[in-house]
Amino acid sequence: MELVRTISEVRERIRQARAGGRTVGFVPTMGYLHDGHVALIEAARRAGHYTVVSIFVNPLQFGPQEDYERYPRDLERDARICRQAGVDLVFAPSVEEMYPAGRSRTFVEVTELTDGLCGRFRPGHFRGVATVVTKLFHIVQPDVAYFGQKDAQQVRVIQQMVADLDFPVQIEVVPTVREPDGLAMSSRNSYLSPEERRAATVLYRALKAAEALVAAGERDAERVRDAMRRTVEAEPLARLQYAEVVDWQSLRPVDTLRSETLLALAVYIGQTRLIDNLLLRVDDPPYGSSGSAHFQIRTGAEDLAIYARSQHHGM
Ligand code: AMP
Repeated sequence: MELVRTISEVRERIRQARAGGRTVGFVPTMGYLHDGHVALIEAARRAGHYTVVSIFVNPLQFGPQEDYERYPRDLERDARICRQAGVDLVFAPSVEEMYPAGRSRTFVEVTELTDGLCGRFRPGHFRGVATVVTKLFHIVQPDVAYFGQKDAQQVRVIQQMVADLDFPVQIEVVPTVREPDGLAMSSRNSYLSPEERRAATVLYRALKAAEALVAAGERDAERVRDAMRRTVEAEPLARLQYAEVVDWQSLRPVDTLRSETLLALAVYIGQTRLIDNLLLRVDDPPYGSSGSAHFQIRTGAEDLAIYARSQHHGM
């Protein structure tokens, strides 16, 4: 494994890999790596790619009141994890390497998909993400890039950007990796005190409560949203920022759950803002004389086929 800090070195290594007949798989990260990042790396490795990981805490995607300065950084540890995971190349540029003028005068902005969810509370965030991912794609020129379902809105924004602007890259989405108690792995979990860490399971509990309702046949989005809200409100250390039930394609709130529906949450645990989501595949049930509805629920990590009694849910 090699670690390089400049764009020209990346270009040179990629040129050599391609000359050797390799395809390129790319995993963009902000570092402080955990098993969620490793799952992305392993997906790239499994596909046989020359695997490139970028580690860059991108100032452009942080708001002025956000945690850019205190975001955890440990390049030595990250390099060790990458080496163990079989990464070929780590690109860890300085801010000056990425933004020589100290800022960018050019931005990539994905509209509509960024209006709601995190976009509503983090103005400019997805513009920063889309801009830096564009730069990284131009630097690395990957065949395939890997993103985590954990950041569901980011996935949709990148998919849309790639489609709209004809980036010659395939986007692969990797299921959310969780701690044994359900907490989605995140570099920001390192901010949590032991007490907050225990409370942080509330996000997963809220999503599972909502999922259980859907599995029991509930299709009214407001009731599903309420189940998430109530679970979070019962946790004293938690403060809900949003609990939404949205269509996976448009990311717009739905009234009735159907096809691919995203349950998404942002919750403050003390000063730490955490997000999580579940993507449910709710097949329109074939209501027949049997009175039973078959629908599939896809959670982050597994596919579940669920059979539920059909009830009166306005469907
Ligand atoms: P970050 O370093 O937090 O910007 O994340 C880099 C990439 O890793 C993004 O595509 C994230 O969605 C993904 N990622 C972060 N946490 C997880 C997780 N728990 N499971 C799967 N992917 C993750």
